[in-house]
Amino acid sequence: MDIVLGLQWGDEGKGKFIDLISEDYDIVARFNGGANAGHSIERKGKRITLKSLPSGIFIEGIQNVIGTGMVVDPVNFKQEVLNLKSFDESIQVEEYVVISQKAHLVLPVYKLMDIFMEENPFYTTVGTTKNGIGPTYANKALRQNVRVGDMYASDFKARVHHILEREYNLLISYGQTLPPFETMEEEFFDAVDFLKRFKFIDSEMFLNNSLSGGKKILAEGAQAAMLDIDHGTYPHVTSSTTLSAGACSGLGISPKKVGEIYGVTKAYCTRVGNGIFPTEIFDELGGEIRSRGNEFGSNTGRPRRIGWLDLPALKYAVMINGVTQLVLTKADILSGLRSVAVCTHYESDGKKTEMISGLFSNDQVRSVLKWMKGWSTDISDLKESSHLPAELIDFLTFLEKELAIPVSYLSTGPGREQIIKMH
Ligand code: GDP
Repeated sequence: MDIVLGLQWGDEGKGKFIDLISEDYDIVARFNGGANAGHSIERKGKRITLKSLPSGIFIEGIQNVIGTGMVVDPVNFKQEVLNLKSFDESIQVEEYVVISQKAHLVLPVYKLMDIFMEENPFYTTVGTTKNGIGPTYANKALRQNVRVGDMYASDFKARVHHILEREYNLLISYGQTLPPFETMEEEFFDAVDFLKRFKFIDSEMFLNNSLSGGKKILAEGAQAAMLDIDHGTYPHVTSSTTLSAGACSGLGISPKKVGEIYGVTKAYCTRVGNGIFPTEIFDELGGEIRSRGNEFGSNTGRPRRIGWLDLPALKYAVMINGVTQLVLTKADILSGLRSVAVCTHYESDGKKTEMISGLFSNDQVRSVLKWMKGWSTDISDLKESSHLPAELIDFLTFLEKELAIPVSYLSTGPGREQIIKMH
């Protein structure tokens, strides 16, 4: 099994890369998160954002798996499937996707809870997508939730009704104004009926048997290393394990079976919402990169914060994931800048450090930048690494030396064909 992961704060362009390399695999399996992901993919000049569906969905013959580590929102999922069908009616979604029986269900009250927690001053504002993902994982950990496989249990409706009523009444007792209970419940059960068009499987058995039978699996990560629940910039993180270890636990595959680990990073940094961001650019250049790079959340439309490439954070992400190959995206967005910067260290309380993990709660941290000559050539149509401008080659060589892994792919634009295999 190979793995593709984001190394920053998400939105690195994982979807495009997975869509591209998935042709070499038999199975693409998502292992974490849910409809809080937003993998934008361009196909035939049109763009679609996948939320819960794996990015191998466009290719006939690939089995896409919604793994055990994911949380499935039937209402959102139904909408996503219908959108995909209208995007490209040739995609046989019900055939191309199977769902783990052990994946947890996102109930509509969890979305209401998410909104309440994000908007109520008694809670930390995390900057979630308000899709109910955090409360679902919390209820999973509390062992209060229902799973995909429970949908066929005779008491499924009664169990769901009980949870909906409990959480709904709790929110009412907090003085919340909520949508009508009956409508919410009806919409959910309608969507559950739709979800039953899909095959629910014992995904651990399926995936391990597939590996034994010589099939190739690509594990697709959502969000990214710096948003990992344990190792990210807590509390402004996601609620699942985003790392390569999460691919093993979320899919039930032994670490011994892992081959390549592709880490995707932009040539600069972005982050949505609150939280430490040492390399943030506050002047108009940040705004320029934001509009050039269309750095607005694909799920929420929120403007992303912009920063220079953060090498200590990247080294940390490479280390905790065991990344073997780097995929660098969006270098085209920096084309034309006279100089570009990379953060090599941090400065905090007058001391230099490379250790981002010790600084997670310290918003006084400053980045120490190394400036490099920018590249003026438009790289978006280049197809060969030998045609790349010398300044960009210097930038890539510097990264390879610092990170001690190769930049294997250079993405030069949003299109499928805009990628250069470097090694
Ligand atoms: P993901 O969640 O990691 O898949 O990333 P998003 O889909 O949120 O954001 C990546 C966006 O950048 C998408 O709109 C991609 O089409 C686009 N993209 C990916 N790679 C490149 C690249 O190299 N250059 C440019 N300009 N856009 C890219």
